[in-house]
Amino acid sequence: MVLDKLGNALRKGVTKISNAIFLDKKIVDGIIKDIQRALIEADVNVELVFQLSQKIKKVAYDENIKGIDKKEQLVKLIHDEIQNILGGEKKELKLPKKAKILFLGLYGSGKTTTISKLGFYYAKRGRKVALLGLDTQRPAAMDQLEQMAKKAKVPAFIDKKEKSPEKIIKNYQKELDKYDLVLVDTAGRDGLNKELISEIKSISKATKPDYTILVMPADIGQAAKTQASEFQSALNIDGVIITRMDGTAKAGGALTACSETNAPVFFIGVGEKIHDIEPFNPESFISRLLGMGDLQGLLEKVKSATSEKQQKRIEKSLAEGKLTINDVVEQTKAMGQMGGMDKMLSMVPGMSNKKIPKEQLKKQEEKIKHFEYIRDSMTPEEQENPELLEKQTSRIARIAKGSGTTTTEIRDLLKQYKLLKEMVGMQDQLASGKLDQKMLQKMAKKFKGKVKF
Ligand code: GDP
Ligand code: MG
Repeated sequence: MVLDKLGNALRKGVTKISNAIFLDKKIVDGIIKDIQRALIEADVNVELVFQLSQKIKKVAYDENIKGIDKKEQLVKLIHDEIQNILGGEKKELKLPKKAKILFLGLYGSGKTTTISKLGFYYAKRGRKVALLGLDTQRPAAMDQLEQMAKKAKVPAFIDKKEKSPEKIIKNYQKELDKYDLVLVDTAGRDGLNKELISEIKSISKATKPDYTILVMPADIGQAAKTQASEFQSALNIDGVIITRMDGTAKAGGALTACSETNAPVFFIGVGEKIHDIEPFNPESFISRLLGMGDLQGLLEKVKSATSEKQQKRIEKSLAEGKLTINDVVEQTKAMGQMGGMDKMLSMVPGMSNKKIPKEQLKKQEEKIKHFEYIRDSMTPEEQENPELLEKQTSRIARIAKGSGTTTTEIRDLLKQYKLLKEMVGMQDQLASGKLDQKMLQKMAKKFKGKVKF
């Protein structure tokens, strides 16, 4: 996949946010560091990366945003901001009924390949397409266009002898009028020099294109910014096509550079085959990178199961360094509503997806009710310090009697209390980059065995 390294890092970050039981500064900083590294490796401008980090920090450190809200806001922020630096909204190439597009670019940027791909793309969508070869610089250029046009199954108008692009245009003018989409291939140079500028201007005058598009390879990374703005000021380009997205880790640089110069990216080339071209849509691109589907679902579930108030209370208890029996009851309830730990873990991509039998859900509800009776029979002191029950087991007998439950159930609740405490203790470790499938599976096994719903 294109930019898969960046995608992996972003998905990891989002998973960490989702799975953190409490998002503290240490976890957030770790996540930001990972995302920064990945973006810089993708050759995204350091300044943009810094701005994004600041925005993440602002939400993450905001004490007024808590719990699930914070998680959701963070995930949404990462999604939206990266979409923005990739170009924001999708810019579509709106072609009139009869259209001509002129393609420009330096040597080897992928013009001829892209034109053939687009010929194939639009022919499939019902356009009557013709390719026009005006690269009279390189001897093999016309042969290449001819061959690629065959693959695209569209006609190519070429002249292997004529050296003047203007003459070629003139000779084919009548013929070309029969087509409703003409894609014009031009010669490149090593750099944007005077010769190229005047050649393109002259071709442009003769062809009167509806659009002029610059073709750039993704591997130039951030240098796309200078290139796009130079072409823009010398030749008035309408937008860009980035090729070779498949072969480089730097594609993030090329995409964000275009966004910075306000040059819309209309298509991206993603391989050498004739069908390896796609319209560029920042939103679907970022969604694909983030693999949002599953995690969005997970966040929604977490949100629907955990009330704001109760989340705040648990956070407060923990911030003060204590976890009360009430937190455990509430947490158990929340997990019950989500379908328990098993279900929650099964929503993490890659984990098995087991269904919970109805009977088990019923048992779960019963158990939660009993937990509540137990809690109500405990003294405030015992609720705050459940360890008291272990020190003086006579308390357990008293509570069992008062709540109409069994001592086994009380011990279960205590076990759960310990587990939750442990889980909270584990979270640093989990979120500090060691959060992988293996670890989660281990955790799932551990909690599954002990937390009997
Ligand atoms: P031009 O000089 O601008 O016409 O560039 P070409 O169309 O001849 O392409 C230069 C090289 O880039 C060729 O080897 C193409 O096969 C390759 N190329 C173009 N687009 C892509 C792409 O999207 N992916 C890959 N992997 N290679 C591409
Ligand atoms: Mg070419």
